Amino acid sequence: MLDSLGKWQVTPLETGDFRLDGGAMMGSVPKVLWEKTNPADELNRIDLALRCLLLDDGEKRILIESGLGDKIQPDFKKMFHVVQDDHPLEDCLNKKDLSKEDITHVILTHLHFDHAGGATSLDKNGSMIPAFPNAEYFVSETNWESGLEPNPRDRASYLPENYLPLEENGQLIRVRDNTDLFDGISTISVNGHTFGQQLIKVESEGEILVFCADLIPLKSHLKLPWIMGYDLNAILTLKEKTDFLNMAAKEGWWLWFYHDPKTVAVKISKGEKYFDVSEEVKRDFHN
Ligand SMILES: [Zn+2]
Repeated sequence: MLDSLGKWQVTPLETGDFRLDGGAMMGSVPKVLWEKTNPADELNRIDLALRCLLLDDGEKRILIESGLGDKIQPDFKKMFHVVQDDHPLEDCLNKKDLSKEDITHVILTHLHFDHAGGATSLDKNGSMIPAFPNAEYFVSETNWESGLEPNPRDRASYLPENYLPLEENGQLIRVRDNTDLFDGISTISVNGHTFGQQLIKVESEGEILVFCADLIPLKSHLKLPWIMGYDLNAILTLKEKTDFLNMAAKEGWWLWFYHDPKTVAVKISKGEKYFDVSEEVKRDFHN
């Protein structure tokens, strides 16, 4: 179980599941290897979760990441085999007796559609508005610039409707690289996957948890050479991941997976060839 970290109550919000091409997710790793841990469907797609993290200390209710959101179209749903409720985040919060008004802060690791899609939604008049009316939204300055002028290679993942309304409504806070957001909550900036992705590090009462986002999307990506084909700069990801995992093993961090379909979080130790999992929190499918 991982239901608290120091002063924070820790709640996974399973907003849905979808599928992406297994080859694109595993980069240069051959299918004969990755299909053992991540089996592919008839279209070569593998399962991915959309597991947001809610932190609550009785004063702040901080949401990390926002899922695909509630404005995706049927053809998109089919292409990515999306399985989720009509209002995924709201329904998750309602099950915990919370509403979207209760969220005080939203932190987005980066603006790709599967991370920022739930940041905005359509109001009754058809206008795109921030989905959490009382929240400040934290986006890295570097990634915001990427969102305004995406690189042709990952342009399809940046959909302005997911983030421009945050600025238009005065709810956007641009964050510098590697910075403290609150007491004990800071960002770790990485640039291999896309420019200005910020991992979120939570430290409280001697415990540390890091929301790994797309530096380590699946448990399989704990293996150093397993790097997504989507990444803009695989060699940079390799370096960032190596430094990050060495530190995580040394200091006993919990590593939170946004996309792993079965594992919520792990602790690791340094093994002979790769890093070994020393503790593991499995997904509760009743959630
Ligand atoms: Zn991404």
